[in-house]
Amino acid sequence: MKRDPNNAIHAAINPRATLNRIGQGRHFLQIPGPSNVPDRVLRAIDFPTIDHRGPEFQQLGRRILEAIKPIFGTTQPVMIYAASGTGAWEAALVNTLNAGDQVLMVETGHFATLWKKLAEKLGLKTEFIPGDWRHGVDCRQLESRLKEDPTHSIKAVCVVHNETSTGVLSDIAAVRRAIDAAHHPALLMVDTISSVGSVEFRHDEWGVDVTIGSSQKGMMLPPGISFNAVSEKAIAASHQSTLPKAYWGWEEMLVANRSGFFPTTPATNLLYGLAEALDMMFEEGLPNIYARHQRHAEATRRAVRAWGLEILCQNPAEYSPVLTAAVMPKRSDGQHFDADAFRQLVLERFNMSLGMGLAKLQGWVFRIGHLGDFNDLSLIGTLGGVEMGLAAAGIPHQKGGVQAAIDYLAEQAR
Ligand SMILES: *Cc1c(COP(=O)(O)O)cnc(C)c1O
Repeated sequence: MKRDPNNAIHAAINPRATLNRIGQGRHFLQIPGPSNVPDRVLRAIDFPTIDHRGPEFQQLGRRILEAIKPIFGTTQPVMIYAASGTGAWEAALVNTLNAGDQVLMVETGHFATLWKKLAEKLGLKTEFIPGDWRHGVDCRQLESRLKEDPTHSIKAVCVVHNETSTGVLSDIAAVRRAIDAAHHPALLMVDTISSVGSVEFRHDEWGVDVTIGSSQKGMMLPPGISFNAVSEKAIAASHQSTLPKAYWGWEEMLVANRSGFFPTTPATNLLYGLAEALDMMFEEGLPNIYARHQRHAEATRRAVRAWGLEILCQNPAEYSPVLTAAVMPKRSDGQHFDADAFRQLVLERFNMSLGMGLAKLQGWVFRIGHLGDFNDLSLIGTLGGVEMGLAAAGIPHQKGGVQAAIDYLAEQAR
């Protein structure tokens, strides 16, 4: 397809114009976050910004700060920052720990690696339980490492619930059992940035001390706000914590939140969107949302297998409900077909964005996001784009992936 040069100049000023580059119809944003934002949420955001110290805002603040709790499976406070998920990662660490504290992390993939680097920049001593980027948290290894720490110098265990780079979901209840079996008092911090809102999470029941979430993946919102759900133990730790913190400080936030307000200017319009997204989630029902994600993930895996491609996640018990990472087949020279050239073709011909392979997965893995505002027909469109892309790019595969997904979804709809 030829590019219109005027469109390209306009696009340089207005990036939204690029979305209209390929004819009409919706762009399919099938990366595992940001995810597609439903029209209802977009309309809710499109409303005049109000005084964040006034009575109208107070009503909104009180409502969302209460309504967000069941999404995390908690009755404790959930704090909302005007920041991407990375900000909430930082907030979790600086509020609870001291300079030089030891934290034990698990190398599930790229996001676990980024969180570790962030912790190091804050002056924490990090340790990785190594992983192959194809499995979740190994709880036996975690338990034995904690048992080797009788003086309790490890202050926190940090794990990623849904590793977005690999499509692997870890069992957080099992992580809690491993910590308890080692009789270790470390805080448990869990990154649910790509799972919260799409996958069941039980902050209180699983004894999680800080749960980190973000708006732009399962919560159906644009990027820009992120969350810290906390336990009483985490709040107690925050009273002793000496790592420097200013903007991220929990104390000012918790005090202001008690009356529905925020210590600094909140992302008011995103909070309108959050209120609407929460309404939508409760209308659908949380168990139905979680079941829908499982169904779409299973349909996607059936398609990937029918194409003859390999799923990156190697343990079926750990398949992610929100995304599927697929491995490109190998050429006769033993190299993988180029995943990024394939994604580029799908973008240009079919107006669909697929997730790239991150870090060491780049070039040979691509990711299909099936999360957030998503239904059976959006999935069939998504898989149709992948199957047409495989054919157009000349990548060896078997036909029938979309059909396998259709068969499964039709059977489930009965
Ligand atoms: C997206 C993501 C992040 C990074 O969040 P930002 O909003 O980009 O700062 C961290 N962890 C996981 C698991 C993610 O999926």
